[in-house]
Amino acid sequence: MAQHEHVRVAVIGSGFGGLGAAVRLRREGITDFVVLERADSVGGTWRDNSYPGCACDVPSHLYSFSFAPNPEWPRTFSGQEHIRAYLEHVADTFGLRPHLRLGHEVTLMRWDREELRWAIETADGASFTADFVVSATGPLSDPKTPDIPGLADFPGKVFHSARWDHDADLTGKRVAVIGTGASAIQIVPAIQPKVAGLALFQRTPPWVMPRMDRKISGAERRLHRALPVTGAARRGLLWGIRELQVSAFTKHPGELGLVERIAKANMAKAIKDPALRAKLTPSYRIGCKRILLSSTYYPALAEPNVDVITSGLAEVRGSTLVASDGTETEVDAIIFGTGFHVTDMPIAERVVGAEGITLAESWKDGMQALRGASAAGFPNFMTVIGPNTGLGNSSMVLMIESQLNYMADYLRQLNVLGGRVALDARTSAVGAWDRRIQARMKRTVWNTGGCNSWYLDANGRNTTVWPGTTAEFRKVTRSVDLSEYEVVRIPKRAAAPAKAVAEEVVG
Ligand SMILES: Cc1cc2nc3c(=O)[nH]c(=O)nc-3n(C[C@H](O)[C@H](O)[C@H](O)COP(=O)(O)OP(=O)(O)OC[C@H]3O[C@@H](n4cnc5c(N)ncnc54)[C@H](O)[C@@H]3O)c2cc1C
Repeated sequence: MAQHEHVRVAVIGSGFGGLGAAVRLRREGITDFVVLERADSVGGTWRDNSYPGCACDVPSHLYSFSFAPNPEWPRTFSGQEHIRAYLEHVADTFGLRPHLRLGHEVTLMRWDREELRWAIETADGASFTADFVVSATGPLSDPKTPDIPGLADFPGKVFHSARWDHDADLTGKRVAVIGTGASAIQIVPAIQPKVAGLALFQRTPPWVMPRMDRKISGAERRLHRALPVTGAARRGLLWGIRELQVSAFTKHPGELGLVERIAKANMAKAIKDPALRAKLTPSYRIGCKRILLSSTYYPALAEPNVDVITSGLAEVRGSTLVASDGTETEVDAIIFGTGFHVTDMPIAERVVGAEGITLAESWKDGMQALRGASAAGFPNFMTVIGPNTGLGNSSMVLMIESQLNYMADYLRQLNVLGGRVALDARTSAVGAWDRRIQARMKRTVWNTGGCNSWYLDANGRNTTVWPGTTAEFRKVTRSVDLSEYEVVRIPKRAAAPAKAVAEEVVG
């Protein structure tokens, strides 16, 4: 028989966002909740991205939960397997296992106006109802692969960086890597030494800064273990440095000139061939697209078995890849490092709000949500890492923890209001928030730097990045301002029969 459960809170996803929400709920004394996760284990990004070379690009002591410091980080920028293990450890340490419902892909969430709760369906036939939903499905969790003519008939292996095919042995093979984003630049140096040939399809060159990665010594780890305050100080320093960088991105992009010079020197050190250097030199301001960190990418590109094709993949003819500029390259395998559905996140198609429309329909002119969390017409529903909460230079975990403060206060306010009530963000408040963000966006490097990035949606609006410091975001998400919400109560029509039934049962 299909399973049905009612809970106070349903959390969707078990990455940093979902697990963080679960820890916070328990800390708030709420134990009546489930975490619905489509995969068979926790970890989100750090479970799905298992490609060679995968690691964080924000130092580990900052890219981790403030409430779960890890003195054992092995490197300044730890690898995927260590971050995944850390998240598994968080699930154990904070007693989250009983709440996890793995293998439960949410296919539909519908707001029930009569009962003031969400009805949730999952792909395996289980259903849930929840008074409150925390959607933490991740902005970078659904891989995007371009629709290339002829791709279906390619005879070799084809996969996306976030769905690495570990059965594909690339040794001695001719491999194409499509894209030059954060994942591709980690993959290229990791596979270059073992492949026969590597064709890198680059539409736009990224800016790449040196990466100060090193092993964290045993002495440092012992110190952090014995004196946790030293780990906290390290984290504080890493945070502070990044906070100071923000105004260059958001207000004074001209100041980034010095950073460009460091990035150019990083390239010049490894790339001696002026023609290749020209191919790899960006024509837009640094910071406009995400600044990438690598000290091994350029050295790998300088190797004789690598060919940089300065155009996108246009067509596949058998095992021949045809670039937009007509270049033809024969390969045995294709790896797409082409990013994710960020501004068109698939979960939005599956959420039906109070007006009977999906979140995707409500966002047809671009995503917007009050304080990155609440969309109008979607009561008692919040998104973790929602619109305009992304960062160009610091740890997303800081933003997640801010949003969890907001979640905790949202639930507290619902309790204070008592009984069966819901809070629905006012259209006017969401609009005002969005206008403020978009006005600030005009001066930022993301909007003025002369590039076209995944931060911008199909209409050219930047609906992904937060145009301020993480401290400012912490402040604006500290509590829920009730004047920004409408209090929704059970409609009288529906309340009457429910009362009659209750009286009948009691009587
Ligand atoms: C390769 C890579 C490197 C990165 N490095 C950094 C970094 O160094 N620093 C940084 O700050 N950020 C980094 N990021 C961004 C990173 O995604 C965030 O920092 C963070 O991990 C996001 O956590 P999340 O929980 O919001 O989403 P995710 O980790 O993506 O988790 C979302 C979860 O939701 C599940 N899910 C999705 N849809 C459904 C559904 N319909 N039903 C049930 N479950 C569902 C997914 O399976 C997944 O487990 C990186 C991203 C990538 C891809």
